[in-house]
Formats: sequence, C-alpha cells, structure tokens
Amino acid sequence: MDILDIAVVGAGPGGIACARRAMEQGLSCVVIEKGRKVLQGIRETYPRGKGVYPTVPRGADEDYIVNEIRPIGDKEPVEEYLVRIEAFVAEAGIPMRLGQEFKGFEKAKGHFIVHTDHGALHARNLVMAFGSNIPVELGVYGEAKTVARNLENPEAYLGAPALVLGGGSTAADIVAVLSRLKRERGDETPVYWGHRRTTMRVEKDVARDMGEEILLGGNIKILHNVVPKLGEVDEEGIERLVVQTQKMPLDGGVYLLQSLSFPMKNVIACIGSQGPAPVFRKLGLQMITCTAGICKIGKEGSELLLLNQSLETSQKGVFAIGGAVSPVYMGAFEEGTIKENKHPNLIYTAVRDGVAVADEIAQRLKA
Ligand SMILES: Cc1cc2nc3c(=O)[nH]c(=O)nc-3n(C[C@H](O)[C@H](O)[C@H](O)COP(=O)(O)OP(=O)(O)OC[C@H]3O[C@@H](n4cnc5c(N)ncnc54)[C@H](O)[C@@H]3O)c2cc1C
Repeated sequence: MDILDIAVVGAGPGGIACARRAMEQGLSCVVIEKGRKVLQGIRETYPRGKGVYPTVPRGADEDYIVNEIRPIGDKEPVEEYLVRIEAFVAEAGIPMRLGQEFKGFEKAKGHFIVHTDHGALHARNLVMAFGSNIPVELGVYGEAKTVARNLENPEAYLGAPALVLGGGSTAADIVAVLSRLKRERGDETPVYWGHRRTTMRVEKDVARDMGEEILLGGNIKILHNVVPKLGEVDEEGIERLVVQTQKMPLDGGVYLLQSLSFPMKNVIACIGSQGPAPVFRKLGLQMITCTAGICKIGKEGSELLLLNQSLETSQKGVFAIGGAVSPVYMGAFEEGTIKENKHPNLIYTAVRDGVAVADEIAQRLKA
C-alpha cells in the first residue's frame, strides 16, 4: 500500500503552493481537485475580465514566497492568470487528481484514509485547502452529482428544454444567456427558471437584460415555489432531477403533488454557496461557537474552526489553510489561550499558509 506524505484537498493557490513546496522538500503528495481544471474556485467566482490583484495584507512580509503564483504587475487579467498558473502546475509536475471530490477521511494506523468519489487514498497528513466557496447541497433524495453549478458551455443546452434553479442574479444571468442563444439559433425549446420562493432577487442590470430577452421573444418559463425533490435514474439509464412544482392539500393530510422531471445534464443549479463550517463539522473537527464576549470579527452564533499555530486542526496531522479558514479562525496558543485570528481571504494568505504547512510537515517527518 502506497502512503503519501501529504494529500491536499483543492487546487487553488493554497493547495498548489502547498504541493509545490512539499515536492521541493522531497515529500510525496497529491492534490485532489473536484473541478476539471486547477484554480476551479477562481474560475467559478471571478467575473470575466477581472483583474487579479497581488494584494499583500497590511503588516505582512512583501514576499509572495511562491513567486510564480503572484499575479503579474498591479493586476493580471483573470483569463491570463488561469492560463499561466495551469502551465506552471504542468511544468512543475505537481500530481493532480482532477475531477475527484473529497468526501471525508478516517484514521488508520499512523495515517489517514482519504475518501473521494473515485475511491480512497492513503496519506500521513491531510491539508484542507478547499476554499470558502462550498456549494449549497441540492438536498434531494438520491444522487444529483451531475447537476452543473455554472454555465461552462452554453451550446450543450441547445435542442432540449433546460432548467435553471436559483432566485439570484447568477441564475437570472444564465437564463438570459441561454434564452438568447436558443433564440438566435432558432431553437424553440424553453428555458425554465425555477425558484423556491415567489420573488427573485436580481441586480438592476441583470433584470434589464432579462426583461429585454423576454420582450425579444425568448422562450422563458418562470416557475415559482419549485422544490428539488429527487435524483433518479430512469428506465433508459438517464439521470434525472425531479422538481416539485405544486403542492395542494387535500383532506386528511393528503397532498396532491405536481412535478417536472429533467435530465440532469439539462439542469444548472445556481443555489449559492456557503462557508465551509458544515464541512468541518461533518468531519468531526473541533469548532468554537462565537459569543459576544469571545468574538469581535466572527458573527455571534457562527462556528469557527480551532487551529493551532501550525494551522493544524484538533485532529493531529489534519491542517486547514487559505480561504477555507478565512476571514477568521480560532487560534489556540501554547499558553492555553484561545482567541480569534484574523485571516484575510487573499491569494497571498493562501500561498503563505500552503508553504508554512508543507514546511511544518517536512520538519516533522524528517525529525
Ligand atoms: C470575486 C473575487 C475576487 C477576488 N479577487 C482577489 C484578488 O484580486 N486578489 C487576491 O489576492 N484575492 C482575491 N480574491 C480572494 C482569493 O481568490 C482567495 O483568497 C483564494 O482563491 C483562496 O485560495 P484557496 O486555495 O484557499 O481556495 P480556492 O481558490 O477557493 O480553491 C479551492 C479549490 O478547492 C476545490 N474544492 C472545493 N471543495 C472540494 C472538494 N470537496 N474536493 C476537491 N476539491 C474541492 C475547489 O474546486 C477549488 O479549486 C477574490 C475572491 C473573489 C470571490
């Protein structure tokens, strides 16, 4: 059985920097990334054409440590940054398992069994570098893993009805883009726009584009009170998402339900993201609940991950870095005190954390 020195979860700036430093230290490592490319987090959250700033937090050392990951100049267009970092990862030969989602870990003798949706791997240390952008689960009975979370290739939605879930600007934007493409290509199949509530909350510019699209004849069908219910495979082997569109109470506690079923490949769910607290909780790592007396930065009632000075969690050998522990975590200090630690959500911070953790692990393994 091969046991790696480090398994890193997430190929963002933090995970890449950690793996790169681990390799320089002569350690064996692999990066598990759920996206099909590195920097998936940045691909999903930065608007097109955005400049990536090499911001250094106030009071920090100017040194970016892994200079290749520093955005070039005052700001580097995100498209160029993505291409450049992808080339850097390939050139450095950083081992990547793309398209694999981390699911959890369990402790074995002297190492961890790290579970992904493609099986397990074994590692002495685990570095969680999965960022702060954890998609909200669809919450359906059954599996709905193949439902897209963003619009990667609009052309793939031509020729069949599409369903976009979500009541915000991102969902509205995708509905308008898809409708326009279908209209321009003479494709009469509709774009359904489904939302759990009766009102959508979209920015003015997006609402204007949507209004224009409807007036120009876009085939958009708006569905209110839509609840995703079930992920299933039909008799032809097609993965489908069933969404409830109406619920009418009958006598005696009986409901009449109406639903629509879409092939999952035609569904895009823009139902938002959440911080990683639920993931840490599920993994059984110690968290501290903010109370007015303890927290100044964290919101009262929110749970903050407990980390020691080496960014190690309550589970020895499991570390958390970068966006996953931003903007604040609970720092445990040697003298036994615990206090809030401000942790800016920046590429700089993620890179610095990744390097520090790889160095710490190398030092322990060589001791
Ligand atoms: C709109 C926007 C603009 C920003 N602009 C700047 C800027 O100009 N300059 C700057 O310094 N910072 C900027 N930031 C912040 C910066 O992007 C983050 O601080 C940085 O990306 C954090 O790096 P990370 O490696 O910790 O996490 P991320 O970059 O979020 O990477 C995490 C990776 O983990 C993967 N992942 C998540 N869950 C799993 C799982 N279960 N299994 C496997 N893989 C998983 C994700 O797909 C992702 O690729 C910006 C952030 C946003 C949202």
